[in-house]
Amino acid sequence: MKIANGNERASRKGPADWFTGDVWIDEIFRGVDSSRVRLMRVSFPPGARTAWHTHPAGQVLHVLSGEGLVQTTGEPPREIHPGDTVVIAPGERHWHGAGPANTMVHLALYESDARGVDAVWMEHVTDAEYNAR
Ligand code: MN
Repeated sequence: MKIANGNERASRKGPADWFTGDVWIDEIFRGVDSSRVRLMRVSFPPGARTAWHTHPAGQVLHVLSGEGLVQTTGEPPREIHPGDTVVIAPGERHWHGAGPANTMVHLALYESDARGVDAVWMEHVTDAEYNAR
């Protein structure tokens, strides 16, 4: 057994190629050896969001605080709230982020594929897409 201190690792800023706004990522757990699981806590200030992307093995989001938005291709953005769990299928094109007025923090649970790929990044979410509710 190992108990990791929550401040062992520095927060990482989400790269500008993959995020809009100042998004901060804290790695909670990364599997070793045969495990490819990853668990992150991601903090989005108001208006911040991921770019469009897919996950080869899917993803589970769990909202901890704030008010967020999530969108899958072909549907309008939907509001997500603390306690909500979003299950994203392998290969499903989507984005997630904060609503316009509140910081949103979610857990993100996912696996990499056999090549180590855990996300395939695409174009940024435009303001028109973000505001299309
Ligand atoms: Mn995702």
